Amino acid sequence: MERTELDDVLARTKKVIDDVALPLDDQHDGDIEAAGGEQARQLLQDAARQSGVLSPHGPTEFGGLGLNMVERAPVFEAAGYSLFGPLALNIAAPDEGNVHLLDHVAVGSQRERFLRPLVTGAVRSAFSMTEPSPGAGSDPAALATRATKVDGGWVVSGRKWFITGADGADFFITMARTSGEPGVAGGATLFLMPASTEGIEVTRHIHTQDRAMIGGHCEVVYTDAFVSDDDVLGGVDEGFAYAQVRLGPARMTHVMRWLGAAQRAQDAAVNHVAGREAFGTRLADLGMIQQMIADNEIDLAATRALLMEACRALDAGDRAARETSIAKTFAAEALHRVADRAVQMCGGLGISTELPVAKIAREIRPFRIYDGPSEVHRWALARRTVKAATR
Ligand SMILES: Cc1cc2nc3c(=O)[nH]c(=O)nc-3n(C[C@H](O)[C@H](O)[C@H](O)COP(=O)(O)OP(=O)(O)OC[C@H]3O[C@@H](n4cnc5c(N)ncnc54)[C@H](O)[C@@H]3O)c2cc1C
Repeated sequence: MERTELDDVLARTKKVIDDVALPLDDQHDGDIEAAGGEQARQLLQDAARQSGVLSPHGPTEFGGLGLNMVERAPVFEAAGYSLFGPLALNIAAPDEGNVHLLDHVAVGSQRERFLRPLVTGAVRSAFSMTEPSPGAGSDPAALATRATKVDGGWVVSGRKWFITGADGADFFITMARTSGEPGVAGGATLFLMPASTEGIEVTRHIHTQDRAMIGGHCEVVYTDAFVSDDDVLGGVDEGFAYAQVRLGPARMTHVMRWLGAAQRAQDAAVNHVAGREAFGTRLADLGMIQQMIADNEIDLAATRALLMEACRALDAGDRAARETSIAKTFAAEALHRVADRAVQMCGGLGISTELPVAKIAREIRPFRIYDGPSEVHRWALARRTVKAATR
């Protein structure tokens, strides 16, 4: 996309965020269900649609803007300035990552049936991988949900949890084991499964500290749920490889969105300390406050730099496992530090609903756990580094 065109998309995005997303977000303390759930999603997405910024990442054949990763970064960050902004632009997790995955892997009628309605915002979806112990979590090889071959397709049985957006999703991208035993790497397959499939039940919401993601984080039980051969996404036994197609970019788009939220926390805190007097001076002129302001600037700038490096590698067609791991791990920790310092700078107001900083700190914290906990990324990075050094 031309630079001027991208600037225009950015300006229109900021206007939707300022005019529609932020007021609703602040009125309901970033709690999407309190704001109206599905009704709020429609309202927010109508505003983005009217402004021509719905699905900036989606393929143009279905009405998206087709932005690459580098182009997405400023637009997604602007959307992330409100906790409801990503939902407005249809770039919230998990739909955003699912659009990316489907665009790269879905074929034939799968694109019309699953990708098109997701890009237009007609439906929501979920990505169903994590399982209770002893199943898949940080270690995907522990995958225990089983798909058994039957005439014309597969039947899936197992239990998943922490499935974002499951309540109200139109379909699930489900990872199940088609060969091998739990603990064995490989043998996973991705299936496209309508939520109406007999044998799929959303059994409960797992109540977590964050509240801005629509459809909750749910437990989903599969009991002999049938999926036809036509709805295998990618190849049989190749699910882990395809999940990587989704995970690298999805990690970076999380960084983009949370960058926007952390920037808002910093802006609110700077505004507060510049206007509050104590001990005969503005808080903003006290050294320890200045240090927090400066450290936040450093964390925000460093996150943007690492993000752009990873985005450039992804746009060049690289898997960018190293770059995305580094950027994700740094961002999840740095942006949490930014939000936490913002809380501190605002004093009592910092933990209240009077300012947006408490809710941002609450929403950012889980990012250190999903899309790979920090420890797993460090573990993988260290192993890769040592392997390269001892080759
Ligand atoms: C808000 C939220 C939304 C989510 N949405 C989805 C979703 O939509 N779909 C989905 O499939 N899943 C989702 N998840 C699940 C998420 O992907 C998992 O929580 C994550 O992969 C960690 O798995 P686990 O919870 O089983 O933790 P465990 O695997 O039990 O790990 C616990 C902790 O052990 C440590 N650890 C693990 N491995 C290592 C290691 N190699 N070295 C050192 N320490 C280690 C880490 O500190 C880790 O946090 C979501 C989770 C959250 C919190």
